[in-house]
Amino acid sequence: MIPALMPTYNRADLAFERGEGAYVWTDAGRRFLDFGSGIATSSLGHGHPHLVKAIAEQAARVMHVSNLYRVPQAEKLAARHVAASFADSVFFCNSGAEANEGMVKAVRKYHAENGHPEKFRMICFEGAFHGRTLAMLSATGNEKYLAGFGPAVEGFDHVPFGNMNAVRDAITPATAGIMIEPVQGEGGVRPADLRFLRELRAVCDEFGLLLALDEVQTGMGRSGKLWAHQWAGIEPDVMSSAKGIGGGFPLGAVMAKEAVAKHLKPGTHGTTYGGGPLACAAGNAVLDVVLAPGFLDQVDRVARHLWRGMLALAERHPRVILGVQGAGLLLGLRLVPEVSNGAMQAQCVEEGLLTVAAGMNVLRVAPPLIITETEVDEALAALDRACLALTPAEALAPAK
Ligand SMILES: *Cc1c(COP(=O)(O)O)cnc(C)c1O
Repeated sequence: MIPALMPTYNRADLAFERGEGAYVWTDAGRRFLDFGSGIATSSLGHGHPHLVKAIAEQAARVMHVSNLYRVPQAEKLAARHVAASFADSVFFCNSGAEANEGMVKAVRKYHAENGHPEKFRMICFEGAFHGRTLAMLSATGNEKYLAGFGPAVEGFDHVPFGNMNAVRDAITPATAGIMIEPVQGEGGVRPADLRFLRELRAVCDEFGLLLALDEVQTGMGRSGKLWAHQWAGIEPDVMSSAKGIGGGFPLGAVMAKEAVAKHLKPGTHGTTYGGGPLACAAGNAVLDVVLAPGFLDQVDRVARHLWRGMLALAERHPRVILGVQGAGLLLGLRLVPEVSNGAMQAQCVEEGLLTVAAGMNVLRVAPPLIITETEVDEALAALDRACLALTPAEALAPAK
């Protein structure tokens, strides 16, 4: 018989009862170091006192009022995001896929309002992940995810990640914008070359296209800067965010330049839950922590420590690890074909460490932003034990 909870996930047989900082405990009392952060989402770790207090206080005061009224918590959060980023205006929603839908709608609306309704197509990239709604399945373009759900939504063209010639070749009079993750997360923790991002900005300017960045996974400090595109020294026209911005509370955002945002007038886009008092109280609490002086510097420091440690692991375990890739606290171990990332993830669980598998046989490591060097060392030791346990047998045999 089918489980009451629809079986859309292959879940590990672990149920967590409580968490504190970078650690979580199962109902059976097993302790884990959480280097998955619930897929790069629990940015402040578990039970962060400031976030917990903000949510509890707001929940007791007023949780939901709808967007028929002013929401001071949302006004404040939007103003702070505007002050800290390229954006002039912010739309709040509840998830990454929803933020991306809003972003693509904003891009299409911009061209339509500027007299070019024929410009509606987005250039997207192979290996991308943009979410599970019907349109975002098409933006993602992964045949496996699209299968069985009818015809793909029109308007998304895919080119190889990092290939500027392919991007130029894909531009037609119907092209509206370019949509890209600065680091492909689900696709395998693949960072875009910073020069490639700059070239995309330039090609958008040359052809009057909008640069639409999906920073759902890379944003909110995960790269060591507030937004990953800052490493390239560029600004997008519009950007989506979610995952880390609510610290585990569902919150998404479409952030845009005025030229784009001004066309989303009353009636053009909406949400019942989005930008509610509770979610925005969580968002403000996360910003309090992430924007505090020195916080992102510490993220960058601890991320470099993790990066060096992972490089050392790769050197020590060439029969298991092919390479290390990613940015900031979104890193991946590219594994040899003989060792599946699923097996590695399961072995890490045995060693007391939570990680997340990603595409291209990569083991993704995305700890909460509040981790310390000591916790990184603990995770590296667990990864080292997992590598030893999974080293193919013949590799351990003495050389002849
Ligand atoms: C997770 C993710 C999404 C989808 O977010 P949901 O909240 O699951 O809808 C979209 N884009 C990127 C880059 C993501 O990592």
